[in-house]
Amino acid sequence: MNNNIEPNRSVVVLSGGMDSCVCAALAVRDFGAGNVAALHVSYGQRTEAREQQAFREICERLGIKQRLTVRNQALGQIGGSALTDSRVAVPEAGTEIGQQIPITYVPFRNAHFLSVAVSWAEVIGAEKIYIGAVEQDSSGYPDCRPEYYEAFNSVIRAGTKEGKIRIVTPLIAMRKAEIVSLGLRLGAPFELTWSCYSGLNRACGVCESCVLRLRAFEAVGVPDPIPYEAANSREANRK
Ligand SMILES: [Zn+2]
Repeated sequence: MNNNIEPNRSVVVLSGGMDSCVCAALAVRDFGAGNVAALHVSYGQRTEAREQQAFREICERLGIKQRLTVRNQALGQIGGSALTDSRVAVPEAGTEIGQQIPITYVPFRNAHFLSVAVSWAEVIGAEKIYIGAVEQDSSGYPDCRPEYYEAFNSVIRAGTKEGKIRIVTPLIAMRKAEIVSLGLRLGAPFELTWSCYSGLNRACGVCESCVLRLRAFEAVGVPDPIPYEAANSREANRK
């Protein structure tokens, strides 16, 4: 392949959750859907099929035609996380979100995502890689820290042909409620997203991801459009 890196082309890492959906909507606003390529990496997580559905539907809605869906076999075999090991229960969120690294952390997961994204960007000539990592209002995962992405950009400079590709993290310093507000302004299709760690038809409303999401919508004062287990969504809103 001999594709030159184009500054107006981008790859967006799209898990199908609310943050990655807003990130994809931002990339489409900035570059146009025809210049945005979407990557989905599944890894044997509990909600794999539901997240793949969210990915497809978000791409359809945003008009992203260039897509890559890959399955990482390593993370599931390695395990060590409640998301990839069925013997480890997904915990309900406590009051101490973000204070210690929870069992839902998938060891060094985002490096696997980014490696695929960089390889693909180099082949299709995309200069920027958008990823919706959030540091504040998050679970405290170490692969969501700004210094991690700065270091990864050094790896890309040293390890790619032209050294021009770079990772962009537009949401990293935003509060979760700010992300909801931004998504609403951009027309991000929140109703198509899936954030829950365990539910497949209805979001559980009590895992950390659900609780962070419900709090954000509540802070903005708009209802979260996805279906929740009825009792749990109210409980989550009180936490
Ligand atoms: Zn949940």
